[in-house]
Amino acid sequence: MSVAAVIVAGGSGLRAGGEIPKQYQLIGGKPVIRWTLEAFLSHPDVSHVQAVIGQGHEDLFAEATQGMELPKAVTGGANRQDSCRLGVEALAGIKPHRVLIHDAARPFISHQVISNVISELDRGDAVIPGLPVADTMKFAPGGVIERTVDRGSMWFVQTPQGFTFDKILEAHRRAAREGRMGFTDDAAVAEFAGMPVRITAGDQANRKLTTSHDVRTADSEVSARLFVERPDVRNGQGIDFHVFEPGDGVTLCGVKIPHTEKLKGHSDADVAMHALTDAILGAIGEADIGMHFPPSDPKWKGAPSSIFLLKAVELLGARKGIIANADITILAEAPRIGPHIAAMKAMLAPLLQVAPERIGIKATTTEEMGAIGRKEGIAAFAVATVRLPL
Ligand code: MG
Repeated sequence: MSVAAVIVAGGSGLRAGGEIPKQYQLIGGKPVIRWTLEAFLSHPDVSHVQAVIGQGHEDLFAEATQGMELPKAVTGGANRQDSCRLGVEALAGIKPHRVLIHDAARPFISHQVISNVISELDRGDAVIPGLPVADTMKFAPGGVIERTVDRGSMWFVQTPQGFTFDKILEAHRRAAREGRMGFTDDAAVAEFAGMPVRITAGDQANRKLTTSHDVRTADSEVSARLFVERPDVRNGQGIDFHVFEPGDGVTLCGVKIPHTEKLKGHSDADVAMHALTDAILGAIGEADIGMHFPPSDPKWKGAPSSIFLLKAVELLGARKGIIANADITILAEAPRIGPHIAAMKAMLAPLLQVAPERIGIKATTTEEMGAIGRKEGIAAFAVATVRLPL
């Protein structure tokens, strides 16, 4: 039985406030949606993960999912129901047996809950996770109690909501055909189509992040947990030099800066990213960048240096390590670096999976002393602090 997942991130997320939609805000240095996608990608029974994103969010999505292997995201519709329908439609070519539809804003989804939904689908065509209601419930239209509700039959429901693929696709198509919009979850679409919907065990942790307070609280909790579980703090340093040759600009921390020369090197010669890569490799006692990516190998000719940095982050990740902070100093007489520092931090943050505020980038001249002062090239120094479990 093949199982696909649709991750719905179509909303503008404006209720949460913040400069960017909540599904792209960081918790523990990682975008909300990345936590969610990783949970499904790493589940052994889920073979395909399809994201649905909001119009104009293509760049945010690309940045948040850097390095992940995902099919092209589908652009969502005017409301949640339509976004879900478009996500399910996108799987029509793949024809999975089952589909799980999940809110991107529920990043704490556990493998256990995903498994609960999948296994309960053996007993029916529609299954959603839920939690029993613990508080006493009152039915009080207009604020005056009419009666006490029997809470024994009431449930708070969550996602992922699981369905037999063909059935939910047809239910969504029928609702759209008949102009029945405004269903707030996929179970309601299934109910409309006459499908019995079963409830399986959800999880208290699988909450939906709705307000800016929710996102901030989640960030504090996750950051604290990541740090507490990684008490082994280590430092690494990296230093690199590249000489100038005729050209039209230099690439520093992944940002191309127009200049009358370029830096000579086998890759894109991003001296700052090379120093940072070596700092991370040094912190975990790994061999340096030249050992992992020999300059003699023609494969790396003109390569973006982000490949090297991602390799260092991957080696760190293999040890379950995280970056606590990184600090880079660029030594150059020219070009001027200052105006590009914000762009450099924005470029590095998703690669390092940390918030931009954990990255320092500074530039200095050498007061015209020495080789750098004679504008023969650029040097970069970097330090990185990493945290590892014991
Ligand atoms: Mg180098």
